[in-house]
Amino acid sequence: MEAPYDFELDRILREISLSKAGKVLLQMPDGLKPYAQALTAEIGRRAGVEVYVSAGSCYGGCDLALTEAERLKADLLVHFGHTAFLPPPPKPKVVYVEARCKFRVGEAVRAALPMLSSHRKIGLTVSLQHVHRLGEARKILEAEEKQVEVGSPKGHGVAYLGQILGCNVSAAESVSGKVEAYLHLGGGVFHALGVYLSTGKPVVAADPHSGKAVEVSEAGEKVKRKLKANFLRLGEARRVGVIVGMKPGQFNLQLTLKVARKLKRLGKHPTLLSLDEVDSLKLEGFPDIEAFVCTACPRLGLDDAERFSRPLVPASKFLGVFGG
Ligand code: SF4
Repeated sequence: MEAPYDFELDRILREISLSKAGKVLLQMPDGLKPYAQALTAEIGRRAGVEVYVSAGSCYGGCDLALTEAERLKADLLVHFGHTAFLPPPPKPKVVYVEARCKFRVGEAVRAALPMLSSHRKIGLTVSLQHVHRLGEARKILEAEEKQVEVGSPKGHGVAYLGQILGCNVSAAESVSGKVEAYLHLGGGVFHALGVYLSTGKPVVAADPHSGKAVEVSEAGEKVKRKLKANFLRLGEARRVGVIVGMKPGQFNLQLTLKVARKLKRLGKHPTLLSLDEVDSLKLEGFPDIEAFVCTACPRLGLDDAERFSRPLVPASKFLGVFGG
């Protein structure tokens, strides 16, 4: 199957040769894993190196497989699909491959137009795989007499105009005062929901893979209602788990201890829990804990709140509600 992504094979081979690597670890999000076998075979054949694929989760640049690379004694870690999120580690060398998508975005943008018909000033945001298609989307919007604003991102994990992450929608926020609605280019609704939750403005997610578009306000309001309900339950809880995430870009001990101190001042009993991957099954092992505050990925407990049988709220929201 021909991959609809640019895996920059020649650059990877050059990096292997430059760093004289004998062992390479590839890491990619689930959406790219179907191409891993062919990629591994090609790299192994052309570079004559031992190639491993990390089969674990990979949700973002925050989730660098440094422990695996260390155990495997890999000389090179090739991380696909995300922009650098962390400062480069001393070892191994990390190469980021953006895996830009070859699909054009016109069909998805045209599908979004009816949902943007009552708005003239549009903020355009994009996921990394489609950053090179911003111009194509802009042209279509401007042909419909829309005024298009593309914001400058700041902070971690973003490198391009208009680029956003689930936890960094600064590019959208930077133009919030100038636009009435947003159009986001990318697969699924995760990133678009982040823009809605942060700005409160209508957001249409245009998916270049399916050529379809969807407005996310309803889903966003559902997230807000669930969060409110979870805060009420957290307010009543006595025993609260404070989760510190073990993924390199999500690890925040200072925030974890700050949350724990605040919980104590509120008369609650915090239990500190370290977790690599925050999933409901692992939390089932602590039946006496009534609610959780999570200092790992700030999107945990928002759009995926239904996954957890007990309230789980992100630390930033917790401190926003209860004060630091
Ligand atoms: S912290 Fe969460 S939202 Fe941010 S990059 Fe990592 S997985 Fe994505």
